Amino acid sequence: MSLLYIDGTWRAPASGRTGMVREKATGAPLGRYAMGDAGDVDAAVRAARAAQPGWAALAAPERAAYLRRMADHLQGRFEELVTLSMRETGGVRAKGEDEVGTGIRQLHISAVQATENAGDILPPYKAGKLSLSRAVPLGVLGVITPWNYPLNLAMRVVAPGLAFGNTIVLKPAELTPVIGGQVLAEAAEHVGLPPGVLNVVTGEGVDAGRPLAAHPGVDLVDFTGSRQVGLEIAAAAAAGLRPVRLELGGDNAFLVLDDADVELAASCAMIASLEFQGQTCISSSRHIVTRAVARPYIAAITRRAEALRVGDPLSGEADLGPLISEAQRDRVHRTIVEPSVAMGARIATGGTFDGLFYRPTVLTEVTPDMPAFTEEIFGPVLPVTVVESEEEAIALTNGYPMLMNSVFTQDLMRGMRVAERLQAGEVHVNDAHARHGAEDQMAGFTKRQWIGLQRTPLTLPAWAAAPSDAR
Ligand code: NAD
Repeated sequence: MSLLYIDGTWRAPASGRTGMVREKATGAPLGRYAMGDAGDVDAAVRAARAAQPGWAALAAPERAAYLRRMADHLQGRFEELVTLSMRETGGVRAKGEDEVGTGIRQLHISAVQATENAGDILPPYKAGKLSLSRAVPLGVLGVITPWNYPLNLAMRVVAPGLAFGNTIVLKPAELTPVIGGQVLAEAAEHVGLPPGVLNVVTGEGVDAGRPLAAHPGVDLVDFTGSRQVGLEIAAAAAAGLRPVRLELGGDNAFLVLDDADVELAASCAMIASLEFQGQTCISSSRHIVTRAVARPYIAAITRRAEALRVGDPLSGEADLGPLISEAQRDRVHRTIVEPSVAMGARIATGGTFDGLFYRPTVLTEVTPDMPAFTEEIFGPVLPVTVVESEEEAIALTNGYPMLMNSVFTQDLMRGMRVAERLQAGEVHVNDAHARHGAEDQMAGFTKRQWIGLQRTPLTLPAWAAAPSDAR
């Protein structure tokens, strides 16, 4: 495990240094990972550059066949990988299955996309002309990923990137280098992907991520992670006039209007705020509730939160596992919960922890100036802010970066109207975290396609779908 995968070979990092990977629930060692640095990144980018023309020159069905074989390889290891994800990320089984399953599905989807459409016929500006656009690969993609869903967040870039003829240098998060990096390299090796097509350089963000983001041999930096690091990466890319694609965090909102089905909203809130201990970019970080239903809603989420079991995911008896690290726990507790309580918020349940195991926490009387409202929490906390009206709810919601919001009302047309006014990447009406499918996440990496590649302003409606299961 303590090797880098560069140019089709496993090699020791130039620094000779390795770091420890730990099982999050127990702290037990899982193995060691190589600490790559700028020299290793440079070698990987050179290998990717050299491999790219040959890889792009393959017929699309040949590239697709490699992807399908990678999918088959991972599918054959499904149980092993789910357990690895549970141990390395601290997620429960359902989260591990989701992560691994989505990663595999992404490979199949990209294999199809690569063989479907290579361009468009455009309406010409002048009569009598034929205007064609052709999709061509960008070149070398530098991919930097976070620790929360390491396999599928890497794969959602790696799979379409490879499918469309790009080559890749992947730098996974240092807390999850195995499921987020080594496993992909093993799949590449297993299917005989040509050397240099997929390279994996594990290491620290500053030592390996930063040089990758700034490397002039990288044609597109794809970064999933925090806003803070995203800002730095965008600045480095701008200095080199290179494109960058950022998937960052958000302060997502969960609106409960006066005519909501409170029990349904409370069930969905458990998923929205507590899935993987709230450590997802789409977690609901603010519950904005109209006064008419505030009391029963708070009672309903408190009752549900109290019933949840926190423990080692491998025991099979936990609804929530540990937080990813002490730093993350301290961020949640010291910079969000404690200061918000000091400013007047009340703890209805939770607010305590044992090691990395943080009790699901309901905070009430949260006001818009508190960190529980203004910050992405990334932990198992449901802060409730009471408002008087729908208008006030919308006004309070907007103005923050948001990926995925929910609105609860028994009047579907009202839900649609409110959803349209929320400035989020996606809005659910009467649901939470309904899976939009890996196919929605990436269209592929080509010079033409990446430019317009945005999350759709509004994905509606989720109201037709069955509501998420209550935990
Ligand atoms: P992070 O920004 O700390 O780290 C992400 C990756 O960047 C890691 O691989 C890290 O090693 C690397 N990195 C750190 N410093 C770097 C630097 N200076 N230069 C280059 N690379 C560097 O984020 P995290 O703590 O791993 O993840 C949590 C954040 O990710 C949250 O804000 C969450 O919302 C966001 N996220 C977003 C999505 C999405 O799809 N939008 C998905 C998951 C997570």
